[in-house]
Amino acid sequence: MKVLVTGGAGYIGSHVTELLIERGHQVVVYDNLVAGHRAAVHPHATFVHGDLLDQEQLTDLFASHTFDGVMHFASHILVGESMQNPWKYLRDNVAGTTNLLEAVASAHVRRFILSSTANLFDKPQHIPINEDEPLIPGSVYGETKFIAERMLMWMDKLYELKYCCLRYFNASGAHPKGHIGEDHYPETHLIPIVLQVALGQRDHLTIYGSDYNTPDGTCIRDYIHVLDLGEAHIMALEALADGRSRVYNLGSGSGYSVLEVVETARAVTGHPIPLQYGQRRSGDVDVLVADSSRIKQELGWSPKYDHLQRIVETAWNWHKNHPYGFGDRKK
Ligand code: UDP
Repeated sequence: MKVLVTGGAGYIGSHVTELLIERGHQVVVYDNLVAGHRAAVHPHATFVHGDLLDQEQLTDLFASHTFDGVMHFASHILVGESMQNPWKYLRDNVAGTTNLLEAVASAHVRRFILSSTANLFDKPQHIPINEDEPLIPGSVYGETKFIAERMLMWMDKLYELKYCCLRYFNASGAHPKGHIGEDHYPETHLIPIVLQVALGQRDHLTIYGSDYNTPDGTCIRDYIHVLDLGEAHIMALEALADGRSRVYNLGSGSGYSVLEVVETARAVTGHPIPLQYGQRRSGDVDVLVADSSRIKQELGWSPKYDHLQRIVETAWNWHKNHPYGFGDRKK
């Protein structure tokens, strides 16, 4: 298949691009490089430096290629930032997705995979969280993914576009070859920050809150390896051939507290990783763990990296060999 990957220079998009190419698909990456890295894009992918807000450029893109499917990763992704600057998220994420879907409809593309989020489950009634849980976005960022999921529902009704929304829990780890990995600036995610402490780039980790309703008082999250996420995208793209749209919650199904992540990183890196306790971070909930039974049953997906230690090992392999990421950080 010929697949358009928006945001293919970003963390998850670059890993999925890699898998698509390994499986013999043709990939066109469309990325504005605001957060992505040109060096993260597989050399066999066609790279187009472009923005989803540029409708003329999108028209040219769809006129130049006939796509069998689209995977849409390009978006701002920070929960906290979306509450400080909601307009950035509402304008760029919602307008960007609207422009993309308009181009997809005009070009009669039939398959679409959306990078969605566990931030749709702000106050989960049941842990682990399955697809029947009410959708309550926890932030403006989550709201933009909620809107994207709703837009897709209408696209199916109006244009027969078959879609799959993949609601990720905590994407983490890196390609085991160590040539691509996570490189955000500024970094806000737990595992890369812990590993920056191990690299000596930070003095300590600040744990955001110690009084959560969990056994050790720190938040519990479901860390899923980025290549397990990638596999799910490829399986979903193939599954859409049956003409049925779907949504899946995607996690490894195991929850780890912040302290357990730190302990694992200490074991992997051999570094003491000093820590301090700070204030709670706005928007954090006690426990987020996925119930991914539906994608397991329907598509036969299962995570290969089912131990946190393996996930942290792959992340460490990337960070220690690329302490400054792709080397193009914009300050
Ligand atoms: N966290 C922390 N200190 C940090 C970064 C993250 O204590 O410097 C905690 C955060 O409060 C959350 C967990 O680590 O409970 C995972 O945070 P991350 O930002 O990686 O992912 P999120 O769950 O917010 O998507």
